[in-house]
Parts: sequence; C-alpha cells; structure tokens
Amino acid sequence: MTDRFDAVVLGGGPAGLTAAAYLLYARLNVALVSPDLGGKVSYPFALRDIPRRDTVWGAGLVHEMAQRVSAELTHHFQDTVDAVMHLEDGAFRLTLSNGEQIEGRAVVVCTGVRAQRLFVSGEAEYWGKGLSYSAVSHAPLFAGRNVAVIGGGERSIAALQILIPLVNHIDYIEARPQPVSDRVNAEAVLNHPRVDIFRGWEVQQIVGDEFVTGVDIVGINGEVRTLPVEGVFVQFGLLPNNSGVRDLVELDRDGHIVIDENCATTQPGIFAAGDVTTVFAEQVPVSIGEGAKAGLSAWRYVAANKIQ
Ligand SMILES: Cc1cc2nc3c(=O)[nH]c(=O)nc-3n(C[C@H](O)[C@H](O)[C@H](O)COP(=O)(O)OP(=O)(O)OC[C@H]3O[C@@H](n4cnc5c(N)ncnc54)[C@H](O)[C@@H]3O)c2cc1C
Repeated sequence: MTDRFDAVVLGGGPAGLTAAAYLLYARLNVALVSPDLGGKVSYPFALRDIPRRDTVWGAGLVHEMAQRVSAELTHHFQDTVDAVMHLEDGAFRLTLSNGEQIEGRAVVVCTGVRAQRLFVSGEAEYWGKGLSYSAVSHAPLFAGRNVAVIGGGERSIAALQILIPLVNHIDYIEARPQPVSDRVNAEAVLNHPRVDIFRGWEVQQIVGDEFVTGVDIVGINGEVRTLPVEGVFVQFGLLPNNSGVRDLVELDRDGHIVIDENCATTQPGIFAAGDVTTVFAEQVPVSIGEGAKAGLSAWRYVAANKIQ
C-alpha cells in the first residue's frame, strides 16, 4: 500500500519551505521531497575593494522556515522526484529517484532552476569573486567598473539593460546566435556606445589573481584576445527543474511552469512556486512570498476536496 499524503511539496528551498510551513500549520499530513533544506540562499560575493558579503535578503527567514519545518515534519524524503502520475481518483502518484512511490492529494512544485554554465577554466574558481550568474543580484556592486556579459538571448539583453547605466564599459560575447523576441530592441541595446560586441568569439577561460582580471576569448580565425574586466556575467537562460511534471502542466517556451495569481498550474491539484514558475524575478524574497501563496492555495484545495 502506497503512503498517501494530503500534500506533497517538492523542493526545500525558500518557496518549498514556506509552502510546507503553511501546510503544516494547517495540520495537514505533509511530505517534503528534497535532497536538502534551504535551497540556494547563500551567495557570498567579494570584489577587490568590496569585502565579502552575502547579497541575499531574507536568508534569515528561510533558515527560520527550515527550523520550523524540520521540527514539525514527519515525512522528509531526502531524494528528488523523477515522475508524477495523475490517478483516476484525482490524487497524484510520485516516483522518487530511488524508485520509492508516495501519493498526494495535492502537489506543490518548488524545484527551482539551474544556471547554464560555461564549463571553462576559471569559472568555478572565480564564482563570487567577480563572476556572477545573476545580474539582478550583483550588477550594483560593479558600478563604474568594466565587465563582460557572456550569453545571448533575452536574459543577456536584460542584463545589459541593467548594467549599462551602472558600469563603465561592457564587452558582450555571444559565441552562437541566440533567439530574442524583440530583435530591434536587442540591437538598440547592443549598439550602445559603451558596449563592444564579440559575436562568434568563444570564451577560452576566465583569468585573474584573487579576483577576476579578464576573459580570454578566441575568434573564428584563431585570434586570441584578453578582455580586461573585473566582472563576468554568465547570462544564458535558466534551466527549470520541471522534469517530474512536464507532461502534466503547461510550460512556457523556456520550460517554466505556467501559474495563475494563486500559484495554480493548469492541472487542478498541482501548484507551483518560485524560480521554476513563470513569475517575474528570481530572488529569495519573491520565492518566499510565492511559496506562501502556493501553500495557502494547496491548503484550500485539500480542504475543499476533503469535505465531499
Ligand atoms: C548564482 C545565483 C545567484 C543568486 N543570487 C541571489 C541573491 O543575491 N539574492 C537573491 O535574493 N536571490 C539570488 N538568487 C536567486 C535565488 O537563489 C532564488 O530565487 C531562490 O533560491 C529560489 O527559491 P526556490 O525555492 O524557487 O528554488 P531553489 O532555492 O533553487 O530550491 C529548489 C529546491 O528544489 C530541490 N529540487 C530540485 N529538483 C528537485 C526534484 N526533482 N525533486 C525534489 N526536489 C528538487 C533542490 O534541492 C532545492 O531544495 C541567485 C540565484 C543564482 C543561481
């Protein structure tokens, strides 16, 4: 007999912990499936003349949620969910990566995203020491400095729009053409006098001492150049961790789960919150608020469906 819960929360980051906290407060029978408790909430960042600091607001609240949830939760599966199946009676059967199965009347998906990496020398070494995957989080630290933006597509153009008013100069590197919805606007941004464009150039490595000092790039003719910068923003698209539910709910073009203002997906009984959804702004405080909404919506759904 498979264990059936009122609600199963997927993901133990800011969104999942907040959703779980509300569902536990409602005294529902809750399971959390997540390899960790806390998700992505610690991003120490330092530059040559800026001491190491954490740029996350709300991390304290996430730690408080983690304590509250771990004190009250009786079923924490330290695993990931591979697949979710809709059952005839309206509930859902979830298969974990170790093969174990559990069921839930409602499912709250808070599995976050993965940043696409460059996979070049220096990338891991200089992460948090000049290299960033999030312009929204770190752009203001680079005011008046020279930076490189690596990527292409919407996320890179958005990063340029944020960076141009703040920084001294930007080298924009796009190895292969990426689609953007508004090409005219994208080209207008790229044509800014303080932006140099390197299309068709590949990044070879990130170089530096204690902090980033440059990016080595190579052109199609084999020419190698070192761009002197203090900041490197790797701004490819984000990869939503949607694999468990991608056949059950509507996704946008990039794989984010489409939700309404109540964090409901297109599949009744499945709710979603945080970075994995279409909601604007990948930030911890946003995910906490969205997790609260998803938890409250799932509570209301379970309550309504239990009375019948
Ligand atoms: C490099 C970087 C820097 C950032 N800097 C900042 C910053 O300075 N300030 C800020 O506010 N925000 C920052 N963010 C964004 C912030 O980390 C996210 O907005 C926030 O963590 C999203 O919360 P979440 O709960 O949606 O997802 P996450 O925090 O990503 O948590 C996802 C959870 O789901 C789990 N999980 C994944 N797949 C599965 C699965 N299949 N089954 C079960 N569980 C699964 C994970 O283990 C994790 O517990 C940054 C993000 C990145 C990538």
